[in-house]
Amino acid sequence: MTTEEPRRDGGEEEAGTGPNVDDFFEGRSIRNLLVEAPAAIAILRGPDHVVMFSNPANNRGLGRDPTGRSVREFPEAEEQGYLALLDRVYRGETISARESRLLIPTPVGPQERFIDFVYQPWRGSDGAIAGVAIFGFDVTSNVRARRSAEEAARRLSILARVSRALSEATVDLGSIYHAVACLLTEQADDHVMIHLLEDDCLRLITAEHRDPEVRATLRQHLSPIALRLGDGVVGRVAATGDSVLVERPTPEELSVQHAATYSALLERFPVQSLLSVPIRVRGRVVGVLSLSRHQSEPKLTHDDCVLLEDVADRAALAISAAQHHQKLVESERRFRTLAEAVPEFIWTSSPDGSVDYFNQRWYEYTGLGPDESLGTAWLRVVHEEDVAALLEVWKQSVDTGCDCEFQCRIRRAADGSYRWMLGRCVPVRDGAGHVTKWVGALTDIHAQKESERAKAEAIKVRDDFLSIAGHELRTPLAALQLQVQSLERLAERNVERERVLERLRKVEHHVARLDRLVSELLNVTRIASGRLELQKEPVDLVALVASVVERFAPQIAATHSPVTIQAPGSVVGNWDGMRVDQVVTNLLGNALKYGAGKPIEVGVFAIDGRARLVVRDHGIGIPPEHQARIFERFQRAVSDRHYGGLGLGLWITRQVVEAHGGTIGLESKPGEGTTFVVELPCREGP
Ligand code: ADP
Repeated sequence: MTTEEPRRDGGEEEAGTGPNVDDFFEGRSIRNLLVEAPAAIAILRGPDHVVMFSNPANNRGLGRDPTGRSVREFPEAEEQGYLALLDRVYRGETISARESRLLIPTPVGPQERFIDFVYQPWRGSDGAIAGVAIFGFDVTSNVRARRSAEEAARRLSILARVSRALSEATVDLGSIYHAVACLLTEQADDHVMIHLLEDDCLRLITAEHRDPEVRATLRQHLSPIALRLGDGVVGRVAATGDSVLVERPTPEELSVQHAATYSALLERFPVQSLLSVPIRVRGRVVGVLSLSRHQSEPKLTHDDCVLLEDVADRAALAISAAQHHQKLVESERRFRTLAEAVPEFIWTSSPDGSVDYFNQRWYEYTGLGPDESLGTAWLRVVHEEDVAALLEVWKQSVDTGCDCEFQCRIRRAADGSYRWMLGRCVPVRDGAGHVTKWVGALTDIHAQKESERAKAEAIKVRDDFLSIAGHELRTPLAALQLQVQSLERLAERNVERERVLERLRKVEHHVARLDRLVSELLNVTRIASGRLELQKEPVDLVALVASVVERFAPQIAATHSPVTIQAPGSVVGNWDGMRVDQVVTNLLGNALKYGAGKPIEVGVFAIDGRARLVVRDHGIGIPPEHQARIFERFQRAVSDRHYGGLGLGLWITRQVVEAHGGTIGLESKPGEGTTFVVELPCREGP
């Protein structure tokens, strides 16, 4: 600049339009220029740095006009190393100082300015150093602009790091608070606190400070304090939901109730400014995030407030997600406890129907492990006849999102049997109505199913019996009617006695058949109601069999089934003769009915103190699957179109035999004949 100035002034001289350059240097122009210059300028003279000249800009910066005084008079000049600096310059060095911070006194208090200084020696006309020239250029606005850009960048960086830390903090609330507090205290000498609202009280969850000692002291004193809503800055923020920034907070401003504790703390760690912002989850204040700044740092500002609110919002999102997750975990735990307590099998599945949980009861019942149950593996214990229907119902539910109900048989590990289960499942939906899970239960309804089946069977047996009984009773009645009508006609015509007698015998036969049917029915009611009383007396079974065979003579003749009796000697027992007669009658009657046309053998033997009665025919036989059933009431193994009967004879026979302490069994092959074997004890028990 100094090289260019003469040239420019020379240019003006050439134009001849005003004072020349010598006028400028010799007259007052240069002094005026220095006085009005926008820079602070001071000229010092001699080794004592006496202020020869100080322009108004410099005086403003100093807050006084130092003209005529030696810098050595100002004690602060020595203390701040300023004198040493001037001495160096006076020795010939040029020194610049960039962005020196000055507090300029103003009527409204000291104002912070930043000045670039240049200290330069000046020489007298003899060329020797005569003093020091000081030039100060105010760069406050540059510094401020740069600082605010730096501050914005710092805030952005904090926000970015808070976001990253929160996304990595997963669902653990503790790690969320820790991440936020640590990041905020990383760069400044600040103290960060997070209070959470619980039962109308604010509890300190986290207190961070980068100095471990300060942190420990603050935690120790603040943790036991539960602030009331409205008490102190933190309580106020929680109550109103508005951020608060206070400078030099008093103990009462921190808490009226716990002012003493805060007073002691403030003495040790004076707080220059305190900023508290609400943490809101879905519009509701759940806590307060606070930043208190110690004396050494720049004051907290509105920008810090914006930053902290932003951090609080980000933390709130993470807190909300973590709380949501915690609720889920808790409800999952409650569900499992419940699921393990109930007697049903409980399961859950993913929305696509793949099972992801069975309660313990399932594993105990099926004997399967998780690998053999989860997904669709459980199908292996469903009865193969039920799989297709079950899958169809289940698929429809998964497709439509509707509840489903089904019945299926599931194999029990203990005995390999399949038991009937009633399955029900319902969808669990999220807020948007999407199915997030299926929950299902399987209830054992086997006993219920069985009793339903037994009831249906009993009803069918009863109906069958009624139709057979009707038919059976009608047959002899119809025959009787015919015989009676024929007798009437014979009587009208007064025909011979022999033919009347013959008809009367037939009438008697049909009456006897009716009587037998009716007495069978009566027997049933009596036996079923437990009224089978035995009139025991010594009975010879051989003689009894002979008399029954004799009684059957007409049928034997009619059916062309010769009956032979094999009895090595008399077999006597203490029995109810009438009832045992009924046994022999029933067995022989059946042999004649179902073995018509073929010989019948009856045997009576005494074996080991027991009487054995054997009745063998060579008739139609009984298929193996019916052999046990025919001893039950009303059970028959033949069609009633081919063979009459009520299905009661064998049942009555078994009741009588068992009432005597005996047994009855059979051997039979379809088409080859049947052998019934009855054994009765001959003597009374021991
Ligand atoms: P009912 O003969 O009146 O039908 P029972 O109780 O005497 O009733 O017999 C039950 C069933 O047992 C008969 O319906 C028949 O199917 C079968 N049954 C009984 N005895 C014989 C036999 N000797 N041969 C073949 N089947 C028989």
